[in-house]
Amino acid sequence: MKVRWFSLYFLLVLVGIIGLSPLQQTTAATDSFQAKEKELQQAQEAQSRAESLLQDLAQDESKVMAELRQLEEKLAAIHKQLVALEQDLQRTEQTSTEIKKNIEIASSRQAQREKELGAIMIRYNERLRQIYMSGGIDLLDLLLETGDPSELALRLRLFSALLEQDVALYNEALEKKVALEEEQGRLQRQQTRLSQEEKRLAVLRQSTEQHYREVEQAKSQRDGQLAQILAQQASQEQALAEYQETAAKITAWLAQRRTPPLPTDQTGKVRMLQPTSGKITDEFGWRIHPIDQVNRFHEGIDIAAPEGTPIKAAAGGRVVLAGWVGGYGYTVIIEHADNLSTLYAHAFLLLVQVGEIVNSGQTIAAVGNTGLSTGPHLHFEVRRSGQAINPREYVNFGA
Ligand SMILES: [Zn+2]
Repeated sequence: MKVRWFSLYFLLVLVGIIGLSPLQQTTAATDSFQAKEKELQQAQEAQSRAESLLQDLAQDESKVMAELRQLEEKLAAIHKQLVALEQDLQRTEQTSTEIKKNIEIASSRQAQREKELGAIMIRYNERLRQIYMSGGIDLLDLLLETGDPSELALRLRLFSALLEQDVALYNEALEKKVALEEEQGRLQRQQTRLSQEEKRLAVLRQSTEQHYREVEQAKSQRDGQLAQILAQQASQEQALAEYQETAAKITAWLAQRRTPPLPTDQTGKVRMLQPTSGKITDEFGWRIHPIDQVNRFHEGIDIAAPEGTPIKAAAGGRVVLAGWVGGYGYTVIIEHADNLSTLYAHAFLLLVQVGEIVNSGQTIAAVGNTGLSTGPHLHFEVRRSGQAINPREYVNFGA
């Protein structure tokens, strides 16, 4: 056991100073840092939720848009049908009107024929009357009176020729009348067909108009859906922007906390604290190594101090290593701003964990003699972008 009584004394003093047991070493700074990290995680989760919601909305949008396009095409097609139907109806009505006119013409001709037939009948009756009653003598009297059969035959032929002519005229007029009646019947049938067609077209137009209204209603429903989707998109995009802004703010805060700006002196030079009090036993640079006696580059400064002496963070930053590192023994590395880091080796005890945020001057470990070490001391390094530099560039070593 390397732990000596005075070391234990220092350890107890140390624990007394920082007021925490070594197992409960989280600090308020770390707590708030972790809280912020959690907040960041929540903002990022909300962000990805908003993103996936936006993806869903975009899918919905393209679906509704496609439906709208289809409905618009349907409406255009129905409109075309309606225009065609309207034309058909107009044509049918026009034809119907023409046929009505023709029917009227036919009936007026029919009336004419009736009149003609009436005139012929009157003439015929007149002639018959003349035949039978000419001069107040009836036909029999006339026949008997003549006495001359040839004279009688002549008279009869004359009358019958006149009668035949009347009959022929009558028949001719009657034929015309029948033909006209047939024509009228044909026109009437045509008229009936046309009015049936008109009715059919009107019904078709009504049902097509109904269909148009239904499609229009479906379209206006889709329009409403689209408006809703667009509104949701706008609100989600706004929410997304807010989450992104929050995440960016927290990220900046965390970065600032992780590597806080380093304190500077009046000339603007970065200044760090001396990590532990004690005598400087070895400087930065070439030297004969105390253990293997070989000329080696010493990458830090050695400060001898009794085991258990507190080691303090030379500047605020984030612990990136806290554990055993071969010849360095128990070691802490803190990352600072400006690509700087500090290293504390050969510790007896570590009081921080990786990821912890430490303030400048915060006790992070206790001096020890672990690793390749010839006695209790702190091996302290400052590195810029991983390259060891003389700690005296940043620290004014006093005692
Ligand atoms: Zn050293």
